[in-house]
Amino acid sequence: MSRPRTVLCLSGHDPGGGAGLQADIETLAAHGVHALGAITALTVQDSRDVRRVIATDPALLDEQLTVLLADVRPDAVKLGLLGDPAQLPVIVRHLARLAVPVVCDPVLRAGGGTDLVAAGFPAALRALLLPQVTVLTPNAAEARRLVPDVASDLAACAAALLADGCQRVLITGGDEAAPTVVNRAYGGTPPVRVHDWPRLPETFHGAGCTLASAIVARLALGDTADEAIAAGQRWTQAALARAVALGQGRRIPGRLPQ
Ligand code: PLP
Repeated sequence: MSRPRTVLCLSGHDPGGGAGLQADIETLAAHGVHALGAITALTVQDSRDVRRVIATDPALLDEQLTVLLADVRPDAVKLGLLGDPAQLPVIVRHLARLAVPVVCDPVLRAGGGTDLVAAGFPAALRALLLPQVTVLTPNAAEARRLVPDVASDLAACAAALLADGCQRVLITGGDEAAPTVVNRAYGGTPPVRVHDWPRLPETFHGAGCTLASAIVARLALGDTADEAIAAGQRWTQAALARAVALGQGRRIPGRLPQ
């Protein structure tokens, strides 16, 4: 068997397996891509909400990445929940050396409502990380929180995030009140591409992790950013259409082989 493509995932751990690193691993495996994973945070949560985030010590994360990346060079990187702003300089230093496509899901708040990051995190993420990011995938609430001064205008939020240095911003609309889910990809040509999806009746846990992982899988397989953004949404929509209820709260995307 030839060497599979690999994606380095820096993600949190969800003991229920709906979100975080397990969402990444399942999504990547479904694309035939191998996940390398460093856990950025442990969590206490169920399918309704996150109760606690325990960040990985930045020095431990640094040691893990140093040893791993001396051995394997991933084809792309996916960033999910980062438990501590002090992890950012460590991650940025490793990304600069790698120079591969990076998908960043700026996880700021759980779907259940709990805040997952410190007050200074959004500004630090913008200043340090965005110049290294190929595709940023905030939902509308995250985009507004990243750019609070123009929060009423999502296009202005996207423009500010592109000005920070990332190449594409895909703002998803699953958390907005519109009758369909309208996702908008900013950057590139044309400057805005609108992707419209039927709004499914259920609510989901781990949808954002799944989408960012599907996009990074396609980048690792050689897609352009715009191809990956389109294909990642198609794959995620299909996974949401066959989502399963494991616990009492939200459903998790159906990512397992049929
Ligand atoms: N737990 C972890 C480890 C996550 O990475 C995320 C989101 O990315 C969540 C929980 C929250 O997921 P959701 O908002 O889909 O419930």
